[in-house]
Amino acid sequence: MSQQPPLTPGRTPVSQFVENILMRTSIIVPSALACLLTVLGLVACSRTRPIDDDRLKSADRDAGNWLMYGRTYDDQRFSPLNQINEQTIGKLGLVWSRELGTTRGLEGTPLVEDGVLYLTSAWSVVHAIDAKTGVVRWTYDPSVPRSRAFFICCDVVNRGVALYQGKVYFGTLDGRLIALDMRTGKPVWSVDTVEKTRPYAITGYPRVAKGLVLIGNAGAEFGVRGYVSAYDAETGKLAWRTYTVPGDPAAGFESKAMEQAAQTWHGEWWTVGGGGTVWEGIVYDPALDLVYFGTGNATAWYRALRGPEGDNLYVASILAVHASTGEVAWHFQITPGDNWDYDATQPLLQADLTIGGRPRKVIMQASKNGFFYVLDRATGEFISAGPFVKGISWATGIDPKTGRPIESPSAYAGAQPVIVSPAPGGAHNWNPMAFNPTTGLVYLPAKVATQSLHAPDPNWKYNPKRDNVGFDERYDGPLNDTLKKLPAPTGELLAWDPVQQRAAWRAPYPVVEGAGVLTTAGNLVVQGRADGVLAAYRASDGKVLWEFDAGTGIMAPPVTYLVDGVQFVTVMAGWGGPDGLFNAPDLGKVRPGHGRILTFALGAKAKLTPPPFGHSEPPKPAITLNATPQTVKEGSILYSTNCQYCHGMDAVAGPLPDLRYATKEVHEQFINIVLEGARAPLGMPSFKDLLQAEQATAIQAYLLSRASEPAKPPGN
Ligand code: CA
Repeated sequence: MSQQPPLTPGRTPVSQFVENILMRTSIIVPSALACLLTVLGLVACSRTRPIDDDRLKSADRDAGNWLMYGRTYDDQRFSPLNQINEQTIGKLGLVWSRELGTTRGLEGTPLVEDGVLYLTSAWSVVHAIDAKTGVVRWTYDPSVPRSRAFFICCDVVNRGVALYQGKVYFGTLDGRLIALDMRTGKPVWSVDTVEKTRPYAITGYPRVAKGLVLIGNAGAEFGVRGYVSAYDAETGKLAWRTYTVPGDPAAGFESKAMEQAAQTWHGEWWTVGGGGTVWEGIVYDPALDLVYFGTGNATAWYRALRGPEGDNLYVASILAVHASTGEVAWHFQITPGDNWDYDATQPLLQADLTIGGRPRKVIMQASKNGFFYVLDRATGEFISAGPFVKGISWATGIDPKTGRPIESPSAYAGAQPVIVSPAPGGAHNWNPMAFNPTTGLVYLPAKVATQSLHAPDPNWKYNPKRDNVGFDERYDGPLNDTLKKLPAPTGELLAWDPVQQRAAWRAPYPVVEGAGVLTTAGNLVVQGRADGVLAAYRASDGKVLWEFDAGTGIMAPPVTYLVDGVQFVTVMAGWGGPDGLFNAPDLGKVRPGHGRILTFALGAKAKLTPPPFGHSEPPKPAITLNATPQTVKEGSILYSTNCQYCHGMDAVAGPLPDLRYATKEVHEQFINIVLEGARAPLGMPSFKDLLQAEQATAIQAYLLSRASEPAKPPGN
């Protein structure tokens, strides 16, 4: 392949004239042509064309680039490119790969403009990478304090950037929104979007709408009040902020919507924060000038712990707000009075569909709660919902008139424990889905028969120093045995007909977790999995056409674009997230490892040699600690409460250090590490506010006992 054309620093009057004509006539210039014109001195390389509102609105015709999270404002993740298609896919090979220097989860969508990839890695680090060669043009590390990891439920991930008017926008784990210069990676402005007294975080991508940069936040597992903020893209000045749950009534409500929402809450919810965070998926319809987003769970998870029953608006809901003001236009609550962590933050996909003989502008979500929702995006009217996986136990169906779920009697027993499906990970989570207008199908990773114990902790009290889910880790009743006897979960790539609300086909995975999805005019669906395989399927029937081993589990969605007229596919591979950190054994043969970015094209034949990861020998206790069985048992409960959501269920780790293999040096410093923060710079915070020294020692005894269990093979 030829060398990347150099960047053109300036524009001549002639080039400006030609460029103006091209812009006015809305001709989208393929990058190769634009850069050829550059060589001829007629027009600046198209890299100098601004990404403005018109260009974003016409992104569907800009097939060579991937300018927004879901490529176009409707978030369909459909590419009209078809050099790589069902006939040629067999020749698809690796052009290059680049290690990203992390073993944490990679969930981001790279954006692409004129052969440059803009992407986020773990710890909110941003890279600009040459798409043809894999050479890094610049990197910006916002230096997130590593101890923030304690207040992040689901790994130190980031799902991507926004591009607009020469800038790259992204959120950081500690709540900043930063604008960088697209060419240099130097910061232009930075604002704190969160109150520092609460454990907010940002893992989602910003959305640009009409000169504003919109960003949400996370933290409903800990205790925050959810909101979306809009900032002036040029200056970083706050334009509006819309809360998703009401605040303290004594302070006055910000809007009529908040005043009405307060009628659906009881007790003193505002002291905990309420929840309802917008941690993912802000989308925009420029024609209707409406912004849409989903909201997360209430705090605590459990209805019985939040006081008398109520719908708790607007948690677990989809909201539409006016782009200029943030004023609520409509809302639809997916799971009223949520009791099972059924965030409604999954990706929102817009399409124009004919339903019942009538053209409808719809917005769609394959929700965590197992139902696929189709709403009228102009009005919020409920059109339909269908169960997209088998084995949903929390509801028997959805009322066809109101869209309100019909809860199963077994799904809620006040403060008593219950088992329900889907589990908090959902039948579908943040992983982006895609819509192919040719097949009329939505493609998504679905999880079947996930089951979860929900045991509200009768002693739960809000504690700002830790998570506030409200689960009783000390529950030791019969439902633990019931749970163990239930069928293991499965995962599949699902092709869903949103008009008929039924599956067109299902392609089962060998693991539970599938990644975000890309679909193309080549009749393809491209998607990775937790076992590290990137696969291409025929969009019309789900036949597997091509596979590549990326060396570590994939969560992120692929993108496709042109460089000098050649179609490329890029994806990040990096296993983590809540499933990777928790590392439950029923997820199948997941592949933690070193994160990387990989780029493919037809005829390319580069070889991938992933560096080794993990342990090849069974663990052995590094020291001897005389501990009673009661101490080990207490240590296991304390481990479950404090450690397992990062270091793995039963102390079997995914991306983080596997503590069964802790060295003599680590054990000798154990108290220092756990209570004094000796490894805080690496992301292991101090637990001195939560644990006493003898409790830390009990955890150590439990880890040593796990290290001495010979039956467990490495990596399991
Ligand atoms: Ca949640």
